[in-house]
Formats: sequence, structure tokens, C-alpha cells
Amino acid sequence: MATKIYMDNAATTPVRDEVLNTVIPYFKEYYGNASSVYSIAKESKKALEKAREQVAKGIGAKTDEIFFTAGGSESDNMALRGVAEALKGKGNHIITTKIEHHAILHTCEYLEKQGYEVTYLSVDEFGKISLDELEKSIRPETILISVMFANNEIGTIQPVAEIGKLAREKGVLFHTDAVQAVGHVLVDVEEMKIDLLSLSGHKLGAPKGVGAIYIRKGVPVQPLIFGGAQEKRKRAGTENIPGIVGLGKAVELAVADMEAETKRLVELRDKLISEILAKVPESRLNGHPTDRLPGNCNISFAYIEGESMLLLLDAMGIAASSGSACTSGSLDPSHVLMAIGLPHEIAHGSLRLTLDRINTPEDVEYVLNKVPDVVQKLREMSPLYEEVMNKKV
Ligand SMILES: *Cc1c(COP(=O)(O)O)cnc(C)c1O
Repeated sequence: MATKIYMDNAATTPVRDEVLNTVIPYFKEYYGNASSVYSIAKESKKALEKAREQVAKGIGAKTDEIFFTAGGSESDNMALRGVAEALKGKGNHIITTKIEHHAILHTCEYLEKQGYEVTYLSVDEFGKISLDELEKSIRPETILISVMFANNEIGTIQPVAEIGKLAREKGVLFHTDAVQAVGHVLVDVEEMKIDLLSLSGHKLGAPKGVGAIYIRKGVPVQPLIFGGAQEKRKRAGTENIPGIVGLGKAVELAVADMEAETKRLVELRDKLISEILAKVPESRLNGHPTDRLPGNCNISFAYIEGESMLLLLDAMGIAASSGSACTSGSLDPSHVLMAIGLPHEIAHGSLRLTLDRINTPEDVEYVLNKVPDVVQKLREMSPLYEEVMNKKV
């Protein structure tokens, strides 16, 4: 069945109509290379700088602190590898968390092979780090703390301002992967004392393959990509003008209606959560009850396999996601669900529904009508469930 209800907005979002309309002329009319001197190229250059301003404004940064990249993964790589290399004379210790996106975790593993030491902070049952553990992990040779703003699986929002304050006091740089946060919750790099921040277009209604990194003035970062002089020699390559224009527009739009949209999404999210928990026995919410992304609902159902749930939901026209093993391509369930202490069998039965602008109250009703039946159907087929039920009677 064709997808009727898309509830996987943490994976990617459709490009917003206003964004698409803004972008089209930059494919067809203003296609000039921003580095050239003739008029048509000046339009590209102008658009590039306008987008830089829009992104900067959206996160409380200065225009010259924004550098465009090809997405969240590149920005994360650039932050970690760029700072590690620039500060290798100063220290070799990096602090991050166990629940980061793989763009951070796999970069850290690479850096460990290069001789860096990495501390992976644990999180509590709600997915929050401990500021106390963070403070105790800081050593004289610590050069960078990288803690994600909001988690892509369970939606938990970290105490970013407190982390920033601590890092600044200790003289350690602070990077945050804010790919899930920008355009969804308030982000202010000044107020929150953030030194580096990653964001990505396709998680907020802009095209895929475009993102940005915020680098506070004076923070040393070695480039990853060498070539032309673009992005003040920090990131070579002819700029993806349509993508960048789309990113700027999407950030501007998202920040402009964030308050109203947050209120709307929190209502839908909380309805989804409370009614699923009420209708399905042996289900539990993953992530923090209140400090969570407005659109994130992540629930585990005992005795079933997430992957089977996704297939049945897809057959009903619902697109969702799971932290089960099959989805991740390994035998272990998601590292995030493991880090919050879920037993394997519960982690395997997780369902992530992520709402965004496109979702309506009718979508939520539809999903609420289908999910309990799907869980029941799968449990009826589960030998494990049968065994447990037999023991209970
Ligand atoms: C999606 C995502 C990324 C990767 O961004 P891309 O633009 O897809 O490379 C990084 N971190 C988080 C938290 C994400 O959700």
C-alpha cells in the first residue's frame, strides 16, 4: 500500500512548499558559480550570503560563524576531526555520550585508532547524561566535549545550557549535534555557550545533502575537504546554492512558527503516547516524559519484534521506524535503547513515531486505531507471549 501516513520525520522530512518555490529559480535562472564575477554569479553569491544570515539568525550566531556542508554527518565529522587535529598539541581526550548518532560515534572510533582517547558518558533511564559524571570526566588533556542536543531515537533533550556553562568554565570546547533540534526547539548558541554546532537541512523541511556547521569565532578547526577557497577555506567545493537557499529558507520558516507548531505537536504527541500506553498492556515509553522533542513518540511493546510491526503498519499505509536489530543491520538492538537500560527483548519491540508539520489529528487517530491491533496480532503469533500468558492463568 502506498504510504498514507508518514510518521518518520526524524529520519527525514518532505521539502516544504515554500522552500521548494524559493529554490527552483536557483536551478534554472540563477545557476551561476558563486565564485565568478558576472551578474548571474552575483545572484548566487547574494543568495549564499542571505542563507548564511538566515541560518545564523535561527540559532543566535553571527553570519561569519556559519559554514555550509553537505549535511549533518559532514558537520559532525568536521567538528570532531577538525578540532582534534587543530588541538592535537594541546591534548588528546574527547568526551561524548553513548547515545550519539553514528556520525559522532564512528568518528570517535576512528579518532581512537589515531591515538585519541574518548570517554563515552552513560545516560540514565530517560536518556539524560549526568553533569556530575561529565565534570568528573574532564581532564587537563580534554580538548572537546560533544553531546547531542536532542536524541534522534528517543527524543530526549540534554541540559545543553548547563553543559555549555561547565565546558566554558573548564576551558574545554563544546560541540553539539543539533540536527534534531534546530527548527524544532529553541537553540541559542550565545546563551547556551555552544562553540560548535551541527545542523542538517532534510530534518527540517529543506533538501537532503545540505547542512551547516556553526564555529564560534576563534575556535580552531582544520578543514576536512581541501580545494578551492570557498567557505573561507574551511570547506572547499562549489557551493550547493539551491540546497543552501533551501536550508536558509527552511530555518527561517521553522523558527518563525516554532512556538505554535510546538504547542500543536506536543498535544498530538502526548495523545499518541497516552492512548497507546492505555490501550496496549505491557508497553512502556522510551525517553524523557517531558524533556523530549515535540514530535517524538517512542514506545516498546514486550514479546514482539519491531521489524514485523513496521511491515504490518506499512501494509496499512503507515511509515514508522524501530530500534530493532534488523533495521540497524546488526544483531543488537539500537545502542540508544541499550544505553537507557532496556533488556534486549523489550528493545527489540520498539516503535518510533515522529510527527512534524505534515501530520494532522486525523493521522494520529488513524495510527491509534491500528497500532493496538497490530501489537495484538503479533503477540498472538508469538510463542514467548503464549508461554507468559499460560503462566499467568
Ligand atoms: C540525521 C542525523 C544526522 C545525520 O545528518 P545527515 O544530514 O543525514 O548526514 C546526524 N545526527 C543526528 C542526530 C541526526 O538525526
